[in-house]
Amino acid sequence: MPELPEVEVVRAGLERFVVGATITSVDVLHPRPVRRDPTGPTGFCAALSGRHIEGVRRRGKYFWLALDGGDAVLGHLGMSGQMLVQPPAAPDERHLRVRFRLEGAAEGRELRFVDQRMFGGLLVSPGGAELPPEIAHIARDPLDELFDDDGFVRRVRRSGSGIKRLLLDQTLVSGVGNIYADEALWLARVHGERPGERLTRGAATEVLHRAREVMVEALAQGGTSFDALYVNVNGESGYFDRSLHAYGREGEPCERCAAPIRRVAFMNRSSYFCPVCQRPPRRRTTTTAGRRSAN
Ligand SMILES: [Zn+2]
Repeated sequence: MPELPEVEVVRAGLERFVVGATITSVDVLHPRPVRRDPTGPTGFCAALSGRHIEGVRRRGKYFWLALDGGDAVLGHLGMSGQMLVQPPAAPDERHLRVRFRLEGAAEGRELRFVDQRMFGGLLVSPGGAELPPEIAHIARDPLDELFDDDGFVRRVRRSGSGIKRLLLDQTLVSGVGNIYADEALWLARVHGERPGERLTRGAATEVLHRAREVMVEALAQGGTSFDALYVNVNGESGYFDRSLHAYGREGEPCERCAAPIRRVAFMNRSSYFCPVCQRPPRRRTTTTAGRRSAN
């Protein structure tokens, strides 16, 4: 599943290839990827023909093509989505879902949305060029230069939820996926179930800095992904054999203390941590448990 660094790689690739191009026509080959567009496949195609692409932006794992007239095409790659820039002569991909024919900057190329599992999708966001209203509730991500570090730390320390849940809470910080959360927590030596309100300001700041560090590193290497389906905008695999410290290393020795890395179930996924470097929090008494927030 593409995480934020992969989506940023896609955004940057699209920016390079499609800004300045005009969409001459659109084909929706399967209705599911445009299911969230209230105007349906017909409206989607009609709204986009003849529009000029002025920019490619991103918030968290969402990206959008900013169009002339102030509208946008908002996209999410879901589990297996790809945005490919292809010459028209290139054979259709097996899971090609939406085709944009372009002229101008992209020199007659096609922009193709390919998605095997179709959890991702595209929609026209009227007035969404600056920030699509559909995603206005999503917080900035740690790679965004306008991200408010102090505000994040304050909100974390007011919450009774575990720090890993808070890292994955898109209204607090976006784009920190499961892998990066586990890596950041290992680096910061903080257990994911430690409640935000039990973190010192220094520890909460450290977790945030480590999350940013992991994401910057992944971005520099072109993104990491365990999903072989992930391909970046040029069709090259974004996978790289990066050594992760905690994620996916159940039973292997911790690189700091040699204790075996443990895996526990977490929100239908897994959490990996070192039980020695990342001490699990002591159980709460009944009194304090009552103060815990719902999530
Ligand atoms: Zn350890």
